[in-house]
Amino acid sequence: MNVLFHLVAGFGIAIAVCTEVAKPKIFLTATAGVFIAFVSHALLDYTPHCYPINSKVDFIAGFILLFALIFFARKEYKVIMLVTLTGAVLPDIIDLLPAILNKQLHLKLPVYNKVFPWHWKNYSGSIYNGNCSTSHLNTAMICFATGIIMLVRWNTIKTIYALRR
Ligand SMILES: [Zn+2]
Repeated sequence: MNVLFHLVAGFGIAIAVCTEVAKPKIFLTATAGVFIAFVSHALLDYTPHCYPINSKVDFIAGFILLFALIFFARKEYKVIMLVTLTGAVLPDIIDLLPAILNKQLHLKLPVYNKVFPWHWKNYSGSIYNGNCSTSHLNTAMICFATGIIMLVRWNTIKTIYALRR
């Protein structure tokens, strides 16, 4: 699945696990966040999915979004955001990043066999026959669910990103 959708899910998870807004329990929250985000990556990759976003755009925008969501978080939330959002894309960083960097930046990094079964041909939900209606429904549900969490947790977002005056 495109990195951007993993990040959308990861952001929803990060703000959902931040229950103690005023004084976050950093270790506990980050641990819950990275675990759920990692599992979400596996589930999303097992479900049928196409790649509606061009891989180059996905790679660059994903990197910028990941960096911005961590960088602009207040100090107390940086670790939670870093760990949770990285957990959401970690399997792709391990299995796919060297090949992507080789392709995009013309590097010659070594590429190994994929570690995670949801990236293997037998188990991945990748669709290459252009029949993407189920995929569109799945990605729409990810965005919708994260949108709902953002609405419910709007105060949490304001606290994490110091949006209060
Ligand atoms: Zn993946």
